[in-house]
Amino acid sequence: MTIQSPEGTRDLLPDEAKFWAHFKAVASDVFGAYGYVPIETPVFEQTDLFVRGIGEATDVVSKEMFIALSGENLKRLLDGGAVKAKSRLSLRPEGTAGVVRAVVQHDLVPQGAPPVKLVYAGPMFRAERPQKGRQRQFNQVGIECLGAEEPSVDAEGIIMLMRFYAAIGIPVEATELLVNSMGCDACRPPYRDAVKAYMDAHADELCDECKRRADINPLRAFDCKNPGCAAVMEDAPKITDHLCDDCRAHYGTVKAYLDGAGLAYTEDPKLVRGLDYYTRTVFEVQVTEGMGSQNAIGGGGRYDKLVQEVGGRPTPGFGFALGYERCVLALQAAGYAFPPARRCDCFVACVDDSVRAEAFSLVQALRDAGLASEMDHQHRSLKSQFKLADKLDAAFVVVMGPDELAAGQVKARNMQTHEEHLVDLAAAKSLLACLAAEPSGTEPLGIAEVFGGIGEGN
Ligand code: AMP
Repeated sequence: MTIQSPEGTRDLLPDEAKFWAHFKAVASDVFGAYGYVPIETPVFEQTDLFVRGIGEATDVVSKEMFIALSGENLKRLLDGGAVKAKSRLSLRPEGTAGVVRAVVQHDLVPQGAPPVKLVYAGPMFRAERPQKGRQRQFNQVGIECLGAEEPSVDAEGIIMLMRFYAAIGIPVEATELLVNSMGCDACRPPYRDAVKAYMDAHADELCDECKRRADINPLRAFDCKNPGCAAVMEDAPKITDHLCDDCRAHYGTVKAYLDGAGLAYTEDPKLVRGLDYYTRTVFEVQVTEGMGSQNAIGGGGRYDKLVQEVGGRPTPGFGFALGYERCVLALQAAGYAFPPARRCDCFVACVDDSVRAEAFSLVQALRDAGLASEMDHQHRSLKSQFKLADKLDAAFVVVMGPDELAAGQVKARNMQTHEEHLVDLAAAKSLLACLAAEPSGTEPLGIAEVFGGIGEGN
């Protein structure tokens, strides 16, 4: 049996891989205009970073992490031995913890410095049950802004994310932006206690998992998919009724900025998000139709305690991550298809093998001039070379035959108009040389100028 890709993973085949590159380029443009610069961190980190950063009681850490062990350490464990903390590694389930670790390790926000704004893109790993829009390896693009607690950071981040969706082609009217505040160290603990008391009072209506959550992490019950639990949690105490004055003011200012920018949003006091590190602002963007249950295409929020949690000095932070695969599903629901990855401006066909070397050199010259070009590498007949050129959607086919070549000419066919011209090869090559010498700045020559009839013989 042939070996298949692992469960919960997807190959990005050429058309899509090209789109993924475009997706990252658009993110880099949109976020770059807000001052975000790229960072790359390893796909695996010490497990402890995720335990301390994301929280031991979260689903992501307690159930969904892929542990990475070297063969040697696996053997050591199987033999009943121990593995040093620094060799206990996990594949990253999200990007924030790693970026924050790098910021602390390299002191990217020295005391008194302006905030650092970072953008990353790459694969994340969660051992979840795969379904449409939920994979075990998926790609995220995310940003982190560290060093400022002003609500303007949160608002500009949210506005920037919505701009990205529009720029990539997800219709704004297909999305819903949900916002909430999760409070801070002062107001969240009493709120948690209030939710726990409420859950205890309704314990017989909750699923076993939520009964457990009431003790460990009661706020997670807001995300329970069980309809009975959802109905109970509908009437649970709301964080917005428990915010302290500072958190209320912060949340109010974020909303005022969003209003000022004309951004529509829905306040959702049940939005708690799955990771423990959030404080104050949290938000999520959902697609309203065509996505099934996995309809969140991005989300994030503020995390003013995380840097300390991983050993840095107190530094406020804000970030979000968006899921590439879910954005693709949203685009497809809106009728988007990937454009073909391949482009071919000119196919050089050989009448026989005697002209192969000359054809090879012309193809190189075309490519040097920036024109995507191709030739046959399998000794196909001329007819089959034309078929291949058609398949590649070539704009021009240049036919090289021994007789024409002896006269210093080639035949060029415009594949759209089917016009054919005899073209002087030396003239065409010198035009190509000009093209190669001036790749930008001057008015670019097109392939039509090179093969559209210059030096026409007859
Ligand atoms: P999170 O880190 O859970 O806030 O996720 C941020 C975004 O990543 C979500 O809004 C999704 O778009 C995407 N995402 C999270 N988990 C998965 C998954 N298992 N498969 C595909 N996309 C995911």
